[in-house]
Amino acid sequence: MDKKYCTAIVLAAGSGKRMGTKTHKQYLLIGGKPVLYYSLRAFQDSELIDEIILVTGDGEEEYCRETIVEKCDMTKVSRIIPGGKERYESVWKGLQETKGTGCVFIHDGARPFVDDEMIRRAYACVCEHRACVAGMPAKDTIKVVDKDGVVVDTPDRSRLWIVQTPQVFENELIFRAYEMLISNGITAVTDDAMVVEKMLGFPVRMFEGSYENIKITTPEDLETAEAFLRK
Ligand code: C5P
Repeated sequence: MDKKYCTAIVLAAGSGKRMGTKTHKQYLLIGGKPVLYYSLRAFQDSELIDEIILVTGDGEEEYCRETIVEKCDMTKVSRIIPGGKERYESVWKGLQETKGTGCVFIHDGARPFVDDEMIRRAYACVCEHRACVAGMPAKDTIKVVDKDGVVVDTPDRSRLWIVQTPQVFENELIFRAYEMLISNGITAVTDDAMVVEKMLGFPVRMFEGSYENIKITTPEDLETAEAFLRK
């Protein structure tokens, strides 16, 4: 089978309110380099990825180009574009730039520990199933609570997975799903798989991510990330 052309959309347009720092979380340093550097590096170094579209905060394009993309020789970055207010809007802007590609790898720039093996598992899975997401079995019991914090349900843990990125799709499929989402004005979206599930009713497969594939969100995540890097 011919190798499909693969485009990675790396998302770095969030403001990172939960981090509580002035610097957006994707630019904070771990191991002396910005968090975003590691996410980009993984896709840059993967022989499966042909092109990277970097989505940054409005006005941060030049900063990213100079301090990360050019400085670190990320030659696969073909476009740096401004994102939107919500994550799904940033994804949609990225998808406008992927016409003609085969597969799209949508990845949170704030997840620095995506690696080549994971990208390979993703590629194998998307070739077979057309829509797939990285995830890991939940280690903790998860409860559903009502608005007062009272537990209303305890789902069977053996069927619960924590969802990560990359989330990987055939381009035509994810574009169609997002197009429907946007034209219907739906805004309650927390990941890309959900758009494919809800808009197209298309089954999304889970492939193995990693427990280290954390999203840098709150200050303690930076310490965890430093520890992973030291390892
Ligand atoms: O906010 P959250 O942690 O869910 O963000 C996940 C990823 O999506 C981050 O890499 C963030 O930079 C990106 N994002 C974005 N545009 C937004 C919000 C988040 O690109 N409007």
